[in-house]
Amino acid sequence: MTQHDPAVRHKPLSLLRSGHRNADVARELNVPLGTIGYWLHVDRDKRNACPGRPLPRCPRCDSSALDESAYAYLLGLYLGDGHIIQYSQHRAPSLMITCAESWPGLMDACETAMRAVLPDNSVCRVRRTGCRNVKVYSKHLWCLFPQHGPGKKHERRIVLETWQQEIVDAHPWDLIRGLIHSDGCRITNWTTRTVAGERKRYEYPRYLFTNKSDDIRKLYTDTLSEVGVQWSVLARGSDPFNVSVARRASVALMDAHVGPKY
Ligand SMILES: [Zn+2]
Repeated sequence: MTQHDPAVRHKPLSLLRSGHRNADVARELNVPLGTIGYWLHVDRDKRNACPGRPLPRCPRCDSSALDESAYAYLLGLYLGDGHIIQYSQHRAPSLMITCAESWPGLMDACETAMRAVLPDNSVCRVRRTGCRNVKVYSKHLWCLFPQHGPGKKHERRIVLETWQQEIVDAHPWDLIRGLIHSDGCRITNWTTRTVAGERKRYEYPRYLFTNKSDDIRKLYTDTLSEVGVQWSVLARGSDPFNVSVARRASVALMDAHVGPKY
């Protein structure tokens, strides 16, 4: 039997786990001190208990705290334009949000939300032409975004779970901001009119949200109604994919909570 045989490690590990000092165990079992240290490291690593590398927490699996405001925003980004991808079974999946270079503020907001929702996981930005993919890796993405499934979002049902709906009810503007930041925009139409012999320019700002999923548009419009924003469906051709907010008071509400992309 070699010293690397698991059966040989059993006794020192049980001693070490019960609080014996490395040096005492090494002396008692006549094993080099470095070997004891190595076994201890491997044992902790297997149990994900290495000091300095805690097991990533998950609000769903072990009830760790969730930044609900950041989550509602990230949920909006995910439902609008996010993807959960897993390249192989051995690697953690990643949530990827594509952010245009022209809106660096949105990129920062996306990264901040990812770090707030998954504080133990790594976030990175991958440069692409004209944009960057902001990504976070976590084995618990499935827990936090159970809407993940095969195929495109508009080809399957998107229904929030009860706990998600409760968060959206508590933080409706964060969800709306996330949806607008990914699949919406604030545009200004204008026209000129002659009033008392003088030509005047009139501007009509509006918010547009465009998404092919009936469920995601309904989630958006339900949440708008909840916060008192009036909306209408703006059909382009026969596609009812655009939701418009154009009433002055509603645009003012949206400006106060969402604003143009930045
Ligand atoms: Zn989990």
